[in-house]
Amino acid sequence: MKLVVAQMKHETNTYSPVPTPLARFAVGGGLPPEGAAARAAYQGTGSAIAAFIELADAAGAEVVIPIAASAWPSGPVETAAFEHIAGRICAAVAAGCDGVLLDLHGAMVTEAHDDGEGELLRRIRAIAADVPIGVALDMHANLYDGCARDATVIAGYQTYPHVDMHETGLRAGRAVLDLLAGRARPTMAWGRRPMLPHVMRQGTDDSPNRELQARCREMEAAGALSASVFVGFPNADIEYAGLSAVVVTDADPALARRFCDELLDTAWAERAKFVYEVEPLARSMARAQALAGAKPAGSGPVVLLDHSDNCASGGTMDTMTVLGAILDAGLDDVAVFAIFDPAAVQRMIEAGVGAQLSLALGGKLDMPGIGLRGQPREVAGRVRLICDGRFRNRGPMARGELNDMGPTAVLDTGKVQIVVISNHVEPHDLAAFTAVGIAPETRRFVMLKSRIHWRAGLRPLAHAVVECAGTGVCTSDYATLRFKNVRRPMYPLDALP
Ligand SMILES: [Zn+2]
Repeated sequence: MKLVVAQMKHETNTYSPVPTPLARFAVGGGLPPEGAAARAAYQGTGSAIAAFIELADAAGAEVVIPIAASAWPSGPVETAAFEHIAGRICAAVAAGCDGVLLDLHGAMVTEAHDDGEGELLRRIRAIAADVPIGVALDMHANLYDGCARDATVIAGYQTYPHVDMHETGLRAGRAVLDLLAGRARPTMAWGRRPMLPHVMRQGTDDSPNRELQARCREMEAAGALSASVFVGFPNADIEYAGLSAVVVTDADPALARRFCDELLDTAWAERAKFVYEVEPLARSMARAQALAGAKPAGSGPVVLLDHSDNCASGGTMDTMTVLGAILDAGLDDVAVFAIFDPAAVQRMIEAGVGAQLSLALGGKLDMPGIGLRGQPREVAGRVRLICDGRFRNRGPMARGELNDMGPTAVLDTGKVQIVVISNHVEPHDLAAFTAVGIAPETRRFVMLKSRIHWRAGLRPLAHAVVECAGTGVCTSDYATLRFKNVRRPMYPLDALP
């Protein structure tokens, strides 16, 4: 038995000015790894592709890994990048195989295709009409018809923060291996509802997604091979952004349909709970100070979430609005992760550790998609640390995977320690801080450019959390996004019965 195992992951924020060339799909730049290098990069990690490799090895299959390509979210994927990745995967399928296992995202938009995953699957189907294709998708997938039609089995993450990527790979992979072994006949039902759940309301610690995902696991316990609710990714101005569900059963299409409709109907009934109320920044800052003033000695930090500029949702990670408010308010004992500003890092490297300097920090990237200009802020401080920015996640999210912040420096204003990085990395792992010599649990305040994923590795440290509405292409204000292509009517953009 020969299996093609591959990865092509990108969540596309169509408003993001951050380009998405092929080099973004490889840790440290260059070409995404292939073959033995791809296996070495992912085997034993908490990823879906690692689960595929384990299952295929255990089944004694010959495993071909044409490419493992994963990029931090950003603007539409450049055509050359998509053609390279899809081309590698299609060439491997064309060489002949018994099954295909794909670790995809589900919300990839390319310069040419609103449904990047659907285009990949369409091309694979054109080469191998009958080969079973198992697909693992992120919970933020915006599901199009093509993806659902051409995949044999789809399984999605059931946690946000995404701490079950590996388990998702096992669900998708097992169903395909059971099909190949004649032990199962997977059949799939899927559907959508016209609703755009807000990312800040999608966490699976919170209702209603907690209950929706729990119901998926109940359905699996009751015999479904896989049940998934995709809450969708709303910072994408494409026709089929929004919520969807997929249920796979063993040769029982009626049960798959019934389960799928139940999930969709429940999500629709709970749609008001997916709407996010934005708190004005001034009020958030005052609340954070009050929380810090009342916190017991020895307790963890008050976490300030700069959620409008999260690089794991396509943010530039260089807007200075929330950090500016922290500096203006004179907050003391603050750790900030992070500001993306490669030029500022270079200036600090030239100045050297211990040097005092003043620089125009952040705000280098304009955001024409939401009509905003980048606004740097002059910040003075001492260079506290310089490092290469590489660290491995400790988990629980993306456990064991390598991160590359690029050349990294810490600027210390005396009150605020600001991590400044050259590649996008979202702080969801304690190792992001330990890599730069900061113990966040000892700080009075920690500012994170994150929305929900920070909870994976850092929530247990926090005394309290304050969600701070800054500026950026992950804006919580749907009006700022001025949707042109999302299908209408759409809740909550339009009043729907
Ligand atoms: Zn996601």
